Amino acid sequence: MIHTNQWQPDTCGCVLEYTWDDAENQSTRVHTPTRIVKACPAHISMGKDAHYSKVLDENQRKNKAHGLILESMPELVDEVVLDDGSKVKKLKNGIEFKFAFDANRKLQISLTGITSKHKTDIQALVQAKLGSSKIDIL
Ligand SMILES: [Zn+2]
Repeated sequence: MIHTNQWQPDTCGCVLEYTWDDAENQSTRVHTPTRIVKACPAHISMGKDAHYSKVLDENQRKNKAHGLILESMPELVDEVVLDDGSKVKKLKNGIEFKFAFDANRKLQISLTGITSKHKTDIQALVQAKLGSSKIDIL
């Protein structure tokens, strides 16, 4: 069965509609963009497919950067045990992860509550994994 979802990423103001088929295996399932419900100023006048992949790329880049920090910087991370017994990692209290995109849609991550050494290490890590032209740690 084909399902239709709306997606509003936390990385911009776009709202996009896509379909997916629950007959497909979850790991190989494809999201097919079907409609641009709303285009934010940064993503105006783009074709549907290009629009969707651009917004997805930016959103995933932010999520991957956050994930890399959690995976690679144990001294900045607390492990929290949820009610169901599963564990999740989160940045320690006092550390703030904020993000924005500059005029060229380069991701700017601002981390407060960490040392400049950590910032340098994180910058090297995320740029090596995600591309130095794509991301900056402020
Ligand atoms: Zn957008």
